Amino acid sequence: MRAIDTHVHLDDPAFIEGAAAVWQEARRAGVEGAIAVGVEPATWSRTLAVARGLPGVRVALGIHPQAVPALDDETIGRALADLPALLGDHGAVAIGECGLDGPAGDLDRQGRVLREQLALARDLALPVSLHVFRVHGPALKLLRDLGPLPAGGVVHSYSGSAELVRDYLRLGWSFSFAGAVTRSNAKRPLAAALAVPLDHLLVETDAPFQPTGADARDRTRGEPRDLPEVIGALARARGLDPEELAETTTANARRIFRL
Ligand SMILES: [Zn+2]
Repeated sequence: MRAIDTHVHLDDPAFIEGAAAVWQEARRAGVEGAIAVGVEPATWSRTLAVARGLPGVRVALGIHPQAVPALDDETIGRALADLPALLGDHGAVAIGECGLDGPAGDLDRQGRVLREQLALARDLALPVSLHVFRVHGPALKLLRDLGPLPAGGVVHSYSGSAELVRDYLRLGWSFSFAGAVTRSNAKRPLAAALAVPLDHLLVETDAPFQPTGADARDRTRGEPRDLPEVIGALARARGLDPEELAETTTANARRIFRL
């Protein structure tokens, strides 16, 4: 199997033994490419350093909504002013991870920071790796106000309903799914995945978050080598051969992120 992990936190301290070893295992499992996402200005340099030299790994940089509350406006302003040059210098393939997160609070401020990042995505014609958790209504309103982006983007680890898939699709978004579809009680995410047209479907691990498996409590961390499990669960739900689903989602990732 050959697959692309479109959203992974290779710079996370959970990978204490080093991203190179973790990535080597993933390559052995058929994960030929990955997008390593950065989540806040203070760690962007670590994201870039970790991804450098790893075959098939490209980067995306953004400000995660959960990072927003701890950052002051000046820090965010300066970071976003520097971001285009940083993205260009390191051949980044997307803006992200950015988005809206219900539990992280102050949605107005999160929304302002997200809008600025989406404006950059528009100016630079880069796709977006978007995080939306528990606030799909406000997120769709913001995206609707903005209109479709030139290079589109992916709602990562999509957690919304099957019904809302249509609304995101209309605005040009694609969808990726992670470990949640491998749970024994994965009804809702699988129903959503079934509502996604095949040419808008992608896969990811979001590692080290969202370990795969019937019971997530069995494991403390996810790894990019788990990606075939995500593909297997989606393939079973759609009645497709896993190899076929791997090929389709890989082609989608290559198209959207221009890999
Ligand atoms: Zn993430």
